[in-house]
Amino acid sequence: MAALKYKRVLLKLSGEALAGDQKMGLNPPVIKSIAKEIKNIYHLGIQISIVVGGGNMWRGITGAKMGMERVQADYIGMLATIMNGLALQDNLESIGVPTRVQTSIEMRQIAEPYIRRKAIRHLQKDRVVIFAGGTGNPYFSTDTTASLRAAEINADAILMAKNGVDGIYSADPKKDPNAKKYDTLSYMDIIDKGLNVMDNTACSLAMDNNIPFVVFNLNQPGNIEKVVKGQKIGTTVKE
Ligand code: UDP
Repeated sequence: MAALKYKRVLLKLSGEALAGDQKMGLNPPVIKSIAKEIKNIYHLGIQISIVVGGGNMWRGITGAKMGMERVQADYIGMLATIMNGLALQDNLESIGVPTRVQTSIEMRQIAEPYIRRKAIRHLQKDRVVIFAGGTGNPYFSTDTTASLRAAEINADAILMAKNGVDGIYSADPKKDPNAKKYDTLSYMDIIDKGLNVMDNTACSLAMDNNIPFVVFNLNQPGNIEKVVKGQKIGTTVKE
């Protein structure tokens, strides 16, 4: 078996990743193919946790811009991430990958509440743990949730799966032909250059806890496996 660079990972899937080209809602064939990619690394013996976003359904900031109270709008966003988490769980279990969903806001009939020690125990027992509901607090993002949960469970790395973008660029490669792709960057580069890859709260939390994150293209089959095996794809952000 090829050497593994990371043994315990936190995979961050944005809501959009589950929507595919339609950008909104859930796209069953797309979720199925993501589940298969996850299954491939599951069989390598990697401990996998996942944070799902909710942007394919709702973002609090959008609701707030339309006049809704921000906190209320953010709760709707958190609920969206739970719907996504359940969809992912369904797809993983249907192909034989044991999972647990843990929510930051209790919803005992459909998922476990987030309990750190229990989450770690699940990972040790080869269950994929899906963290849904974000941090449970308004004004935060699921990127920040990814950094927080990765620190809590001592993940070796955060795998930031992107939709169709193969790493971090100096400018938007779709708009600027001179945009340069970075192989590695420091946390401070992200913050100083204002690179729009994760929000500053998420980045500084990863920095404070020295958790590297790898930004890569989810749409290329086999990429998650390449990342965990340490092959040079995407952009790695570290100290
Ligand atoms: N959200 C929140 N607190 C959190 C995480 C998420 O309030 O800790 C809400 C927020 O409204 C956000 C929405 O959930 O817009 C969906 O999450 P996010 O935008 O991070 O999803 P993604 O962009 O990854 O799909």
